Amino acid sequence: MSNTAGSILNPRTSTYEFSGVKGATLITLGLPLLVIILNQLIRPDYYIKGFFENFEFEQLFYNIKPISYYIFHNGRIWCYYILWFVILAILDVILPGYTMYGVALRDGSKLKYNINGVSISIFLIMVVVYRWKLTNGEMPELQFLYNNHIDICLTTILFSFLLSTIVYITSFFPTTKSENNKKGERILAVGGNSGNVIYDWFIGRELNPRLGPLDIKLFCELRPGMLLWLLINLSCLHHYYLQNNGKINDSLLLINVLQGFYIFDGVLNEEGCLTMIDITTDGFGFMLAFGDLALVPFTYSLQARYLSCSPVTLGFVKCSLIIFAMVMGYYIFHSANKQKSDFRQGKLDDMECIQTKRGTKLLCDGWWKTSQHINYLGDWLISLSWCLTTWFQTPLTYYYSLYFGILLLHRQTRDEHKCRNKYGKDWEIYEKKVPYKIIPYVY
Ligand code: NDP
Repeated sequence: MSNTAGSILNPRTSTYEFSGVKGATLITLGLPLLVIILNQLIRPDYYIKGFFENFEFEQLFYNIKPISYYIFHNGRIWCYYILWFVILAILDVILPGYTMYGVALRDGSKLKYNINGVSISIFLIMVVVYRWKLTNGEMPELQFLYNNHIDICLTTILFSFLLSTIVYITSFFPTTKSENNKKGERILAVGGNSGNVIYDWFIGRELNPRLGPLDIKLFCELRPGMLLWLLINLSCLHHYYLQNNGKINDSLLLINVLQGFYIFDGVLNEEGCLTMIDITTDGFGFMLAFGDLALVPFTYSLQARYLSCSPVTLGFVKCSLIIFAMVMGYYIFHSANKQKSDFRQGKLDDMECIQTKRGTKLLCDGWWKTSQHINYLGDWLISLSWCLTTWFQTPLTYYYSLYFGILLLHRQTRDEHKCRNKYGKDWEIYEKKVPYKIIPYVY
């Protein structure tokens, strides 16, 4: 077992996020409940109309069985989910790709990643097309997904509890010794080594838990949750198609296309993730496991679920407006992220920047002079465009934009705290040059 009192490689965590243990406990209990409630409010047999006009409290837990049922008597769904997870993990390791190295870790080493989003995407598309042809469009797997939505949702929530417990326990076991890590200590997250079991389990103790060549954190971030989200959306379109004798609705098609594009873009640009805070700084605990595996597929698909029960016909003008919002958001998000990445790789040396004492440069030109996180604004616009596909039928489907706005605000304050500590006076100079945090001239 590794030293739990903190070491040179793994210093003790001194600052707590989310109000410490209390906040971690509340989020652990509250977020899964929120995911279940949101999905219960958008069921084919009961869905919220207008501004919660038909709200009935008892519907929130209608047909939800005791938790013991989902643990002990839900074998079929557990088998399917574990199969899904394991097959994707095997594909993640064996499908061809190219090798990339992550940022330097505290012991000086760099982790190796197999970047194979293209192969995985091609493989998944081929399987879906093959099943479509073989079953003449019946696609029993998609029907199963649609009809057992809430049971699958509860299983993935429980699975994320299980996975975070496993990675928490294994974080205490020693790892392979190396030149720079003679004791064979696992590298822990700077924020996940407080010594408090609940807090460290929640926030993530180990920085990059791995099972052989499989990087569990990057895998969970990009594969099982994101691709399940894609399949849930497809299952909604497919359900509508079967119910309406082969017809499809424009809003449901649009949300599938917009989110499908975003998912494949994420899966295909996985090297971009290697420099994201989640990968470079956060440990892998319940917060990320639950977020990646349960929250993403079961709340990001709310619009498609809603539209499958209560479709909207958007028409050309509204569709164009929504596509415009998505394109604008994507343009800002993508070009800002690319500009920072190119700059950091030394490709844009003529742009104005601040040379920090830490050695790195802070860009304050192009997109990055408009605000400190202009990329977040683009990402948020994308989220709004998705919510707009349900037009103004109910505020419920706007949950996503609200949640994502809060997530990005929280992320911005965390990043600001990190950069202040890291860059000191240089960050103050940067803040004077680029005063706005996310929205130019507003915030
Ligand atoms: P950023 O891409 O903004 O990266 C922040 C880091 O970049 C800082 O910690 C700092 O790191 C460096 N940096 C900050 N300012 C500058 C500058 N002016 N010049 C050069 N480097 C700078 O944030 P994230 O990693 O949080 O997000 C990446 C993307 O992922 C965003 O577009 C975000 O919207 C998206 N995202 C999407 C989510 C989703 O669920 N869809 C969830 C979360 C994020 P350093 O220490 O290297 O200096």
